[in-house]
Order: sequence, then C-alpha cells, then structure tokens
Amino acid sequence: MKNYKIGLLRGDGIGPEIVDSAVRVLEAVGKKYDIGFTFTSYLIGGVAIDACGEPLPKETVDGCLQSDSVLLGAVGGPKWDNLAGNMRPEKALLGIRSAMGLFTNLRPAKLYPALKAECPLREDIVENGFDIMIVRELTGGIYFGERGYREGKYGEEAYDTESYSRMEIERIVRVAFETARKRRKKLTSIDKANVLETSRLWRKIVHEMANEYPDVEVSDMLVDNAAMQLVRNPSQFDVIVTSNMFGDILSDEASQITGSIGMLPSASLSDNTRGLYEPIHGSAPDIAGQNKANPIATILSASMMLLYAFNEREASEAIVSAVDKVLNQGLRTADLARGKDALTTVQMTDAIIENL
Ligand code: NAD
Repeated sequence: MKNYKIGLLRGDGIGPEIVDSAVRVLEAVGKKYDIGFTFTSYLIGGVAIDACGEPLPKETVDGCLQSDSVLLGAVGGPKWDNLAGNMRPEKALLGIRSAMGLFTNLRPAKLYPALKAECPLREDIVENGFDIMIVRELTGGIYFGERGYREGKYGEEAYDTESYSRMEIERIVRVAFETARKRRKKLTSIDKANVLETSRLWRKIVHEMANEYPDVEVSDMLVDNAAMQLVRNPSQFDVIVTSNMFGDILSDEASQITGSIGMLPSASLSDNTRGLYEPIHGSAPDIAGQNKANPIATILSASMMLLYAFNEREASEAIVSAVDKVLNQGLRTADLARGKDALTTVQMTDAIIENL
C-alpha cells in the first residue's frame, strides 16, 4: 500500500475544525482506494506565536519540507491583529510559500449547479454555470519587490516595486498552458501592458510560448477589463494566468461570484515539492470553535492534493463527486442554508464520507 506523509498546518480560528474534517475524509477515501496517510501536525500563525513567539517556527518549515505534501487550514485572528508586520500570523503564509518555492497558485472557481441561487450574478448570466481555473504567480512581483519609505518631493513617501524576470514568467506561463491543455484548451493572460513594463515582458513571453502550444487558444486581456468581464460573462473563461497582485484580486472576485467562500479550494505548487493545499477563505474568527464552519473548501483542497501531488485521480474524483451528491441532496452548512436547517461541520463531513 502506498503511504504519503502529510504535514498538517491547522492554524487559527476554524483552521483546526476544517483540517480535521479533511483528514477524516482522506482517511475514508484512503481505505476505499488502498492509500495510506501519515499525518504530522506543525504550528503556524497565531498559535505558533503563542507557543514559540514567532508565526513560522523553523520546525514547521523543516517539517513541511520533509512532508510529501502539506494541508493548511487558515491563520490569523483579532488576538494577533496589533502585532508588528513581520510578527503577524499572515507573515507565515508568505514565509512558507517562499520556503517551499511555491510559485504557482491554482484556484478553481466553479459554480455548482445546486448552488446557482447563491450566485450574486443575474440568472441569465450564469445560466450555463462557469468553471474557471486561475493560475496566479505566487512568489514574485510587487509583493516581494523592493519597498520602503523615503523623503520625496512632497515629504514622506512610501514605495513598492514590481519586477518579474523572464524565468519567473516562463515557468508560471508554462504551468498555465499545461493546465489549459488538460481542460478546455483556452488560456487568457491578464496584464496591464498598456502601462506596465513588467506586463509588456509578460505579454511578449506568453506570445513566444504560444508557438509551443498550438492546440491552446490564447488571448490577452487588460486587468481592468478582466475585472469587468468576470461579472459580465464569467463562462467565457477557462484558464486565466496572471501576476501575483492581479491574481490576488481577481481570484477573490471570482470566488465571490460562486457565492460561497466556504466552497473554494486552492493548490500552491513548486517544481520540486508536492505543494501546499488550503481553502481560500480565512480563519473566520466569528464562527471559530462553534462547529459551524463549512469544511468543503478544505475537503476539496485535499481532493486537489490527491490529484496534483499524488496523481490519485480516482480517489480525488470520488471526493468531488461525494461533495456534488451532498449538495444535490440539499444538505447545507450555515453559510449556505439561508436560515433553514443547517448541518454542523461534523455532520457535513459525515455526509460527505457516507457519499464516498
Ligand atoms: P474570512 O475568510 O476568515 O471570513 C470572511 C467571512 O466568511 C466571515 O463571516 C466568515 O465567518 C465567513 N467564512 C469564511 N470561511 C468560512 C467557512 N469555511 N464556513 C463558513 N463561513 C466562512 O476573512 P476575514 O474575516 O477577512 O479574515 C479573518 C482572519 O483570517 C484575519 O485574521 C485574516 O487575516 C485571516 N485570513 C487568513 C487567510 C489564510 O490563512 N489563508 C486568508 C484570508 C484571511
């Protein structure tokens, strides 16, 4: 029997509850498909600050690097909101991405037919549903560029710089072309090439690489137009590739039009590790510890792990199909129940396991 070593970063708020749900689902699917898992927990975020005085202890980084793959809940909460920048729980996210070399963030935004009523867009716009995969560059660009304060023409000023190397652009664009190849073979590259030099280099490289992927239809779109098109006609998109900051903003917009932040998984990948998998939402301190959180985003993150890290396609698809089934049965956690009977986190997890 295969056995995979999985590092668990439960984190803060609802993190422990939703990670425990995903672990139960992995164990259940593992039994069915003869896959073993060894789980080891490491501290990250606020709980790590409380226990060790820092949001990302060295043991956590070492443990993640030695794991076959890593599952993360969420970090942060009001208790740690007033700490200095590099001591904040969220700093651990940038740190672990950087330490694991996670330059790719895959964020699917799919409208489940059973959840059409939750979509904030007009019915005629989402008649045919949508299924978008956003490929976001994760370790370059303005979030990692030179920054600081200085005396400027008008006194105190702050600056952040965006820079991208050819290598950084090529490797993320390649992931996007390969992803498009496995889907509907349509790639939209999003930039701001009418203003930014980094975007002009990005666009040039996308066009060069398009020659290697004649089977993929590729087009460019300016980021301001893309923000509009996502709410005007989301079904036009298959795979989107974009820089760190544009991807950060557009993927949140895309998640909102699915109507359900508690449903959306993500995968962060590198060349040489099997990646880090996490829901896109935060630690939801308002419902933490109440057995109310929707565990589906984390459970689907575990399903992405089975596919992308371990190539366990059948087991991965079994989880997606079990989630589809519970939604079609009308089962909902409080975030989706609209005041009607809601399942707890544990009950929703039980229902998914029963449908595997
Ligand atoms: P959030 O995503 O935690 O919560 C926003 C709203 O969505 C809340 O009302 C919350 O109850 C709800 N929600 C989120 N996930 C849910 C789920 N699975 N089930 C049901 N409802 C859910 O965003 P926020 O309130 O802006 O941030 C809270 C904390 O999380 C902050 O400290 C923030 O910095 C942190 N955060 C962490 C991550 C991460 O760990 N990757 C991402 C975003 C925010």
